[in-house]
Amino acid sequence: MTTESTSNIPLGVPTAARMYDEALGGKDHFEVDRAANARLYKAIGEDRVRSTAMENRRFLGRVVRYLSEECGIRQFLDVGSGLPTASNTHQIAKEADPGSRVVYVDIDPIVAVHGRALLADDSTRIVTADMRRPETILDDERVNGFLDFGRPVAVLFVAVFHFVTPEEDPAGIVAAFRERQAPGSYVAISHLTTDGMSEPEQQGWYAGFAGATVPLVLRKEADIRRLFHGYDLVEPGLVRPYDWRPGDDGSPRTSSLFGGVGRVSH
Ligand code: SAM
Repeated sequence: MTTESTSNIPLGVPTAARMYDEALGGKDHFEVDRAANARLYKAIGEDRVRSTAMENRRFLGRVVRYLSEECGIRQFLDVGSGLPTASNTHQIAKEADPGSRVVYVDIDPIVAVHGRALLADDSTRIVTADMRRPETILDDERVNGFLDFGRPVAVLFVAVFHFVTPEEDPAGIVAAFRERQAPGSYVAISHLTTDGMSEPEQQGWYAGFAGATVPLVLRKEADIRRLFHGYDLVEPGLVRPYDWRPGDDGSPRTSSLFGGVGRVSH
């Protein structure tokens, strides 16, 4: 269901979308989100948190450019899209082809509220939904009546699976989307990782997200790699985001994340 009313916006609890917006230097956050980020900054270091967010955002940009310019993808389902900021998926995709279609999906209703004014045009949709119930996205007419799943669609899960617990079956969620994807479709995933991360830093991430609307789950590289089951990873594979087809976008290098892109292998 789309919930585009401001009355649904959780004001007294930090949300991942607004915390991420604050870390990227955006304006769409409240005191409760700034307080949560202040805890993160104290535990981990402000520069490290902001650099992690920016490294991830740069990865998203290079992925969309690669998919649209080099793979010919014209349809994107951006799940856990976050609040609109600079270089959003539809803006990059439209550079390759102004007719590219993008559906943004986020659990946080603030995304639809802020996004409607900024993003909504004939080739862009914004849907409020929970990816932990994939059918609510895939069976939504605003999604499947707008994107043609008979043709390649890139599904983006960028910095969102670390908000899905093992009990919520992350691999099953990816599989539900993959089953609808036509040959030639892609998936992109980035994820906070414990690999190379000190124990105090891990605790700092958990403390920062304690009390947020969605729980945080850091994963090992091997567990993140499993999410690509049914896809062939494109070069350079699952790597640190700054190493994924690096460009001249000045990406920070934090080693807090892994990221990769896979092509449907069926
Ligand atoms: N994908 C964007 C990017 O990488 O720049 C935003 C990433 S932000 C860290 C994570 C986003 O995932 C937040 O906007 C949050 O609301 C959203 N999210 C978390 N759990 C979700 C769920 N179960 N379904 C849909 N969106 C979710």
